[in-house]
Amino acid sequence: GFVSIMRGCNNFCHYCIVPYTRGRERSRDVESILNEVKDLSAKGYKEVTLLGQNVNSYGKDRGEEDAFASLLRDVCKIEGIERIRFMSSHPRDISEKLLETMAEEEKICNQLHLPLQSGSSKVLSDMNRHYDREKYMGIVKKAKELMPDLSLTTDIIVGFPTETDKDFGDTLSILREVGFDSIFSFIYSPREGTKAAEWENVSTKEEIDKRFRTLLDQQNEISYKLNLRHEGNVEKVLVEGQSKTDPDMMTGRNYANKIVNFKGDESLIGQIIDVKITKAQTWILYGELK
Ligand code: SF4
Repeated sequence: GFVSIMRGCNNFCHYCIVPYTRGRERSRDVESILNEVKDLSAKGYKEVTLLGQNVNSYGKDRGEEDAFASLLRDVCKIEGIERIRFMSSHPRDISEKLLETMAEEEKICNQLHLPLQSGSSKVLSDMNRHYDREKYMGIVKKAKELMPDLSLTTDIIVGFPTETDKDFGDTLSILREVGFDSIFSFIYSPREGTKAAEWENVSTKEEIDKRFRTLLDQQNEISYKLNLRHEGNVEKVLVEGQSKTDPDMMTGRNYANKIVNFKGDESLIGQIIDVKITKAQTWILYGELK
């Protein structure tokens, strides 16, 4: 189940239209969120994802600090809910308290989507992201110390108007340094009304297309290597249904939100079961029932 905990955004990244279209941050009150999660639990949902443009600033519009970590702890207490995820987190607002809460609470999956956008501090500043490469790496270091099995995913924009080949090289190098399990990558396109839409692009379309292909090739290699670390593990999988690509297989997701296919039957749908991971591919894991 998906539960929206807040609306809007205060950040005004120079490429993004959201603060203009959806307005400033408004957090839902804790009780109504918990009631919605309890309703989902009563209907048999086992996993919830808390959603917001920037969940790390949940409650700040009411003058509260670290309210998101406290909300997560409350959601963890709801019976029947066994897995909790959230997105998106803005690196500017993520707190150590949140990372500690993730590490301490069993039900919160050790999976973090932390949008990076660029590995170049200069481009991050041009994007108005309010963090630089060093700050981002500091968060990753702390998170990995607290959760050695952490699965990290991110968003990357290629071809922001001020991005040069050197800046793109910084993005490639940070992706290798961090080791993201997967990335959501986009070629920059201007949004009318935003600051960046007024800027000429310093790169040609051909240069940007080439960067994008390079990014995908490099990330595929990283994703595959990181998937290998699951081989041999027995992991909890929430079974979703029959595999779309192979009707003989059932499919579900592990704590890292990775797809796991295995031989089984429909009676397992909705259950969290142990699966031994036997083979890793770039986008999918295969396993067998334990
Ligand atoms: Fe807000 Fe995200 Fe848009 Fe930045 S990219 S303005 S954080 S919604």
